[in-house]
Amino acid sequence: MNTILTVTNLTKKFGPLVAVNDLSFSIEKGNVYGILGPNGSGKSTTLGIILNVVNKTSGSFSWFNGETSTHEALKKVGAIIERPNFYPYMTAIQNLRLVCKIKEVSEEKIEEKLALVGLLERKNSKFRTYSLGMKQRLAIASALLNDPEILILDEPTNGLDPEGIHQIREIIKKIANQGTTILLASHLLDEVEKVCSHVVILRKGVKLYAGPVDGLLASHGYFVLAANDQIQL
Ligand code: ADP
Ligand code: MG
Repeated sequence: MNTILTVTNLTKKFGPLVAVNDLSFSIEKGNVYGILGPNGSGKSTTLGIILNVVNKTSGSFSWFNGETSTHEALKKVGAIIERPNFYPYMTAIQNLRLVCKIKEVSEEKIEEKLALVGLLERKNSKFRTYSLGMKQRLAIASALLNDPEILILDEPTNGLDPEGIHQIREIIKKIANQGTTILLASHLLDEVEKVCSHVVILRKGVKLYAGPVDGLLASHGYFVLAANDQIQL
């Protein structure tokens, strides 16, 4: 089957605050999905719930048509939802080898992923010498080590300079072209337009739109007009 994730009537409350409000959407294999909304709209909370690090209040989600438990399904999911964190005095390749001790991945695979994110030449540089963009690219390489079905990224270009942003976006497109499904959260309309084929737009936890990015431009052009890059919903 081609359905990677189904989210149904998902709700998360923090006390009186409804962070995610009756949210439903699904993710099909091979597409690049964006969850788009301003800060505080519930993007990270939604990702946290589907990755089993945040407890939902109500509703449900199901990975891979519910064929396995969530715990098993998450082994086929790569995710970066925090700032990349590796050992500063170890090199890139040493850091990935350490990850691989847990995941049992070959040296060849490590180098393949370093090449994919453009870090093969810097594999022997210490992590602490990396720019933020390089750190983020190393985190992406790490998340791809066991060839996940889907890669989840929370605000992957936050804090990067224009060149770093461009590199990350190109890498995301390359990964998608290799057949990995992508789900990324962003508050940048520009990012979603450039990288994603599909988008779920959130405002205060409520879904405003879910569908192809092209359809969004045709039927909800005012989002674009209002956005001026930083989306204001
Ligand atoms: P986004 O990722 O879109 O910026 P979040 O999912 O982080 O939004 O947050 C959605 C809302 O939930 C915000 O109002 C945020 O302050 C609140 N929130 C998130 N996590 C917690 C928490 N652990 N405790 C209380 N409120 C939270
Ligand atoms: Mg967030």
